[in-house]
Amino acid sequence: MSRSSSPAGRRGSGREPTDTLVSVTVERVLLAEPRGFCAGVEMAIKALAWMVRTFEPPVYCYHEIVHNQIVVERFERRGVVFVDDVEDVPPGRPIMLSAHGSAPEVVAAARQRGSFVVDSVCPLVTKVHHEVKVRSGKGYRIVYVGHEGHEEAVGTMAVAPHAISRVESVAEVDELPSFSESVALLAQTTLSHRDWENVAVRVRERFPEVWTPGRSDLCFATTNRQSSLLAIAERCDTIIVIGSANSSNTRALERLAGEAGCARVLRINHADEIPDDLTGTVGVTAGASAPDELVDAVLDRLAPTAGVEVVRVTDEDEYFPPPRNIRELQASLELASTAMLGGSVLTRPEMEDRNLPASDVLAALAD
Ligand code: SF4
Repeated sequence: MSRSSSPAGRRGSGREPTDTLVSVTVERVLLAEPRGFCAGVEMAIKALAWMVRTFEPPVYCYHEIVHNQIVVERFERRGVVFVDDVEDVPPGRPIMLSAHGSAPEVVAAARQRGSFVVDSVCPLVTKVHHEVKVRSGKGYRIVYVGHEGHEEAVGTMAVAPHAISRVESVAEVDELPSFSESVALLAQTTLSHRDWENVAVRVRERFPEVWTPGRSDLCFATTNRQSSLLAIAERCDTIIVIGSANSSNTRALERLAGEAGCARVLRINHADEIPDDLTGTVGVTAGASAPDELVDAVLDRLAPTAGVEVVRVTDEDEYFPPPRNIRELQASLELASTAMLGGSVLTRPEMEDRNLPASDVLAALAD
């Protein structure tokens, strides 16, 4: 938890099992919708679960598959080894590359080393990589708004390190030199609008001819989760943001809740971090890498006397299909098994994972 207004709040941050804690007396919960898993995280988790079920352990994953402690621990228990250097993978093992996107040299090294390599980069991050490649190829200087050291920013900048200047504040924009080349403005997908807006305005003031993509780099999931949080913020005595400290969009939600005027904002990893002094109306939201089971546990723990009100600002039905080599291998296996069993290869049902929630896949891994 990142911010607690009372000693009681700090007392409540212990790690005892949920059912041993004193009940809180919350009247109502406002549940932000959309919240939790985004389409990119859904795709990455299902892809890694497929790897775990398809290959003998260990399966290696370059960086945390998504930034959530529960998700990472669940996969570790199923034999996934997370590494920060592809050189740590023994040659000939299957490798998954995380949803945040990897540097081109990391992708190349993984392909050289791994027996089967799946890149689960989110297509929205791929779009930014593509923009970097194209603009740098045309001789642009790229001003990239992103958080220092964040895996997505590191991977994106590695596409054209010679052509990128990373900034994350107005002051850093002011420190940029006057570039002789044309300037393009790109962004880390999981920035909050507030983190982005002032910096982007200043870049446009300094470089009036700046090129920007037709479609914003800020992703729909980040934007939607922020909109649904803003829709509940004013009515809440406390807002709980579920998600890990290293999740960029979770931290953006946490900051936004405070900026929106909520007196008390708690970021938690687990329901057992909820303090026992909560009262009144509590808002609940979850970062894009936090699974439903955590939200369910938080609602159980809060047990509001007047119930849970879902506040939905939009329907989110984006879907990203599995990475291509998983689809191809699955299709070949299905074709072979259908033929071996004497079925019709022309009329066999198509593989469809759109209606299979990653939360269910993750829950099944716990069995
Ligand atoms: Fe993709 Fe956005 Fe989800 Fe990141 S938060 S994985 S960019 S959909």
